[in-house]
Amino acid sequence: MFNGERLMVTKKILICGPCAAESAAQMDAIARLMKDVLQGVSAQFDSILRAGLWKPRSQPSSFQGVGAEGLPWLINAADYLGIPAATEVAQVEHLLAAYQAGIRHFWIGARTTSNPFMVEALAGTPIADKQSVTWYVKNPTSPDMNLWSGAVERLKGAGYEHICAIHRGFALGEHTASVYRNAPMWSQAIEFKRRYPAIPLLTDASHIAGKADHVPEVAEQAMRMGMNGLMIEVHPDPQTALSDAEQQLTPAQLSDLLQHLAAMDTAAQTAQSAELTALRQQIDETDDELWALLSRRLDIARQIGDYKRRHGLSVLQQARYEEILQRRMAWAKEHGIDPESAKQIMDIIHTTVD
Ligand code: PEP
Ligand code: MN
Repeated sequence: MFNGERLMVTKKILICGPCAAESAAQMDAIARLMKDVLQGVSAQFDSILRAGLWKPRSQPSSFQGVGAEGLPWLINAADYLGIPAATEVAQVEHLLAAYQAGIRHFWIGARTTSNPFMVEALAGTPIADKQSVTWYVKNPTSPDMNLWSGAVERLKGAGYEHICAIHRGFALGEHTASVYRNAPMWSQAIEFKRRYPAIPLLTDASHIAGKADHVPEVAEQAMRMGMNGLMIEVHPDPQTALSDAEQQLTPAQLSDLLQHLAAMDTAAQTAQSAELTALRQQIDETDDELWALLSRRLDIARQIGDYKRRHGLSVLQQARYEEILQRRMAWAKEHGIDPESAKQIMDIIHTTVD
């Protein structure tokens, strides 16, 4: 068996490179530093070089990208690596400028997927050779499957045939206790795969993780779940990056990660355990939410305790507790949960508060 045959029966897609193109020298450096790394895993991964030129930043004071000036830097770096170049497009002018420069791989960012007007404008842009183009549609910022599929449908409807999707996690604000920047919500990725079994789905491990240390575990998880590829941000010197400095890997870290992934026998593991892994992932996410809610509840209970002390009320009001308990036990029964177990859980929560 060849080395390369272990990981994947079909090759995976790897979109990697800096969050943003910053200068000709930076793009030149990343290409040189990644050349051997990418060649070393070319049996397992079809690589594409990424760099954002137009950056959709929440804050106007953040680095907005270098714009069209960076097109030749990205293209030269990709040519040096002998792989295609990919960039993010949000507006018609971005798409036209990048297409005219020769780029054929475009991703639609999460904020853009969230806006049907913008997707419609991109899909409707006159492009001479649509069959030469591959689109990568990131999930929208919120877990709204219709927005995600709506973007895919608009591109399909415009005549594009090469469409992939990227799972980059979701912004759930304070409702998540996830250690990651974005809550992965793997169930959404699974649902996308169910709806579009023929569309390759990649995981953007960097934007989910938010911190370089967490990127490998997210990437590994994605491979175990049978995802078709990865997007990973890599910078020659992440500390000095003008955007997403905390989550970008060094080329050496990328090399370690890819070696590790290539050594995993995911083809076999995926077949056996994708379903179990997905279910475990959902349990973990549910536990995260449960604990976030518990901690919010404790916080409120503390505030009630303070209020009662300030107003000379007794801290334990038995009648009120009985009422809460009865209501919860009745609810539990209706939902097929043993009321006695519900009572025990309530008692523990209640005494933890006090
Ligand atoms: C990016 O890939 O650089 C990016 C901005 O990602 P997202 O749209 O997932 O936030
Ligand atoms: Mn980024």
